[in-house]
Amino acid sequence: MTDMTIFPQLEIPHTIAAGPGPGNTDERVLARFAKAGVADHMHPDVLRGMVECKQMLRAVMGTDNVHTYGVAGTGWSGLDVMFSAVMPGDKVVMFVNGTFSGLDGLTVRMKAATAEELATNPLDPAAASVTIVNVPHGASVTGDIVEAALAEHKPKWAAMAHWETGSGRVNDMRGFSDACERHGVMGLVDAVSSLGVGDFRIDDYPGVHGWASCPQKGICCLPLTYAPVSFTDQYIDVLKQTGCRTFVHHPILEARHWGIIDGADAPVGTYHRTHSAYAVSAFHEALRIALQQGIAARARDYIYHEAALRAAVEAMGCEVTSNMPSLVVLNLPGEFAGREKELVQACRAENFGIWPTLSEPVQVRIGILNLLNATAISDIVNRFAAALRKMGAEVDQARIDAVLDQHYGQAIAAE
Ligand SMILES: *Cc1c(COP(=O)(O)O)cnc(C)c1O
Repeated sequence: MTDMTIFPQLEIPHTIAAGPGPGNTDERVLARFAKAGVADHMHPDVLRGMVECKQMLRAVMGTDNVHTYGVAGTGWSGLDVMFSAVMPGDKVVMFVNGTFSGLDGLTVRMKAATAEELATNPLDPAAASVTIVNVPHGASVTGDIVEAALAEHKPKWAAMAHWETGSGRVNDMRGFSDACERHGVMGLVDAVSSLGVGDFRIDDYPGVHGWASCPQKGICCLPLTYAPVSFTDQYIDVLKQTGCRTFVHHPILEARHWGIIDGADAPVGTYHRTHSAYAVSAFHEALRIALQQGIAARARDYIYHEAALRAAVEAMGCEVTSNMPSLVVLNLPGEFAGREKELVQACRAENFGIWPTLSEPVQVRIGILNLLNATAISDIVNRFAAALRKMGAEVDQARIDAVLDQHYGQAIAAE
């Protein structure tokens, strides 16, 4: 008999997930996940749930695109579906201003590389047909940058992150979409961290033909469910001509189970892969919550609470370099520069989950996904202040209290 270890049941503590993502999944979502019955992926209520999800997702994304649905998995799964239309040798201009758009760039280089280019450096290929436009960390991609690059290169595709979560920067969607339209370029957007947080309708950006988001950030549905995607008819037509080299992540085939067949809504879906009743129920509830709260109202809440967090960390002497409403990216006070990872580790050891940046330069990231109330923000602020103090910083509690008090007034007492 071989030795076998059966480990004790896995216990995972409850933490304050105050990072750039994942956000705190709503109790209602977890309840739907746990309460779904054991039903197979072709059960009528599962199929109906998927069709309802598709329709609610169109409202959340603000689109009439027929090809709007969820891709099983994480943000990268949705992005992989979106980028699967990029074929070897396709000309692409990719705008990179941080970790995530950098990884989108890697995805694009892997897809657009020729067989020789891929074999030369399989994990990080260079592709002659891909132009990466690097914008410095801490700066946004502007319409002028996009315009100049598209005018020069005239690519088939252009890609950008809507909000670059690595550096906490909002990029210029209007400028990107307009430049794509002017130059007849098909825009592809990583909206992983903006969907469900910002107030926008994707149909207002006609230069963009593919969108991909994720379950775990603004949609607040971490029980690994669905990464929202949406494609215009033009994207689908181009894909029909070229095809793409994937079955499971094929933008047309993956749509079938959601009842999108031959470019139109069908009453129910047909088999593509085995979807889970639990995942469908959870995603369905997350979309219901987003629509009940309202996209615009939620976006206002993020702006309101980010301002409080920003003012409070500035009162501690930190410098904020981000402009994203769900996330504050900051430099520590000068004398503590270089100790960001130590601070983050100390916070995480106390189940206060904040993050450093994942690529250079090292900064601290504090997020507020689904933490939209004065009590939660004050808790984050006070924990961060305590961690700074432990490192030896002199943090004036009265100043912080004054900032929070000015921002929230009696809100804290009322909660
Ligand atoms: C979080 C994030 C991703 C990756 O999403 P996963 O859910 O981890 O797969 C990609 N792009 C951006 C902009 C992100 O913020």
